[in-house]
Amino acid sequence: MKVYNTLSRKKEEFTPLEEGKVKMYVCGPTVYNFIHIGNARPMIVFDTVRRYMEYKGYEVNYVSNFTDVDDKIIKKAVEEGVSSQEISSRYIEECKKDMAGMNVKPATLHPLATQEIDGMLEMISALIEKGFAYPVENGTVYFRTRKFEEYGKLSHKNLDDLQAGHRDIKVTGEDKEDSLDFVLWKPKKEGEPYWESPWCQGRPGWHIECSVMAKKYLGEEIDIHAGGEDLIFPHHENEIAQSEACNGKIFSKYWLHNGFLNIDNRKMSKSLGNFFTVREISEKYDLQVLRFFMLSAHYRSPLNFSAELMEAAKNGLERIVNAADNLRHLLKNAKRAFMSEEETEIWKGSDAFVEKFEAAMDDDFNTADAIASVFELVKYSNTRVNEENSGELLERLFKRLEQLCDILGIVLEKKEQILDEEIERLITERQAARKDKNFARADEIREILLNKGIILEDTREGVKWKRA
Ligand code: AMP
Ligand code: ZN
Repeated sequence: MKVYNTLSRKKEEFTPLEEGKVKMYVCGPTVYNFIHIGNARPMIVFDTVRRYMEYKGYEVNYVSNFTDVDDKIIKKAVEEGVSSQEISSRYIEECKKDMAGMNVKPATLHPLATQEIDGMLEMISALIEKGFAYPVENGTVYFRTRKFEEYGKLSHKNLDDLQAGHRDIKVTGEDKEDSLDFVLWKPKKEGEPYWESPWCQGRPGWHIECSVMAKKYLGEEIDIHAGGEDLIFPHHENEIAQSEACNGKIFSKYWLHNGFLNIDNRKMSKSLGNFFTVREISEKYDLQVLRFFMLSAHYRSPLNFSAELMEAAKNGLERIVNAADNLRHLLKNAKRAFMSEEETEIWKGSDAFVEKFEAAMDDDFNTADAIASVFELVKYSNTRVNEENSGELLERLFKRLEQLCDILGIVLEKKEQILDEEIERLITERQAARKDKNFARADEIREILLNKGIILEDTREGVKWKRA
């Protein structure tokens, strides 16, 4: 299995630190509102990575935090006149509902930053002791960036370029030793949540939270650290500096980052106001459609959100669900028999689609190609099986389709039934197509109907149909 590592900017063979086990940390959302569909992208993508690793036999320890102390949470709390904790716990609950709708598995653990303050105080103290951090007069503690010689290795940034960028935005009254130094701990402001510390009553910086939660729940060395590409710098770069300076070990072997979800080819973000929440989308679509849409592109590519692409995802998903439904119906009425020789050949013929699926996923989780092989399996099964087939073949094909879809997190349930009028309309259209000698269209309509579980029979009296 090859994965693209942001650290080396190459696809590398995946070898876990410990055989058969994967330790994976994914930066979670800051919970001050409903999550938007941009936030949903890393959730869906890395849940799929996890599912594929589990399919391959790895035991995956998947940790994803909620950032539940932050300026934006505090601002929202002030606006509503409630506590920060009330805001964060409300939106954690809402986020979990959205995740369930998108069939994102709960993490092995979802730690909360506010529950891990002791670990943060410990790591900050250790960094001060080692000379990698220093407190200043007002109680702020900074990380001494230049002391960590490898700073910039993830984002491939050069310290002097960074410094030049900083010079123009020098904040007055800042008492850092160097403009590149970043905050580990900061003093509280009036009315803000705070914790006691050796330096001042205050709260942690954002980056230290993840270094501490990853260490506590996964250890000093982990296999995969992931998040959206906007986190590469400074968040992940700073996490590396803190963890490696403190622990003296390579923090994460592989760094995976998803591309951005755009709208009208512009970055979707809360600050630009051009976003849809997952909840809004759920009013129009089954969230499975959103998941399918996200996986139709490679996770590292930018993806533009549009109504057309969502419709295409809806139709594609329907084709798969209908094929599964058809198999399920055939299976219900099938003869309880083992596969014949001919059927064994049909079964073996479907191996190719699984191989293609795995090859795509082994190549840095190319879900777009993996989906293409699911479509091929669907077409294969639609054209190879009918009510004459044995239960064994039908069941095997159904399970195979179900297994591949499960890796993608797609549930094979039929949500809507085709109405009689629609069937009659398609049959009339098919008759007209045949009259025009447009056999391709006629066959296509037969397949569309078959996908919806409708079987056509051409008789002397005309076309008859029945539900499978
Ligand atoms: P935040 O709550 O802003 O910290 O974001 C939570 C996660 O969502 C991070 O991994 C971000 O990188 C990711 N994210 C935010 N906006 C987008 C977007 N438009 N497209 C893809 N990922 C995003
Ligand atoms: Zn993080």
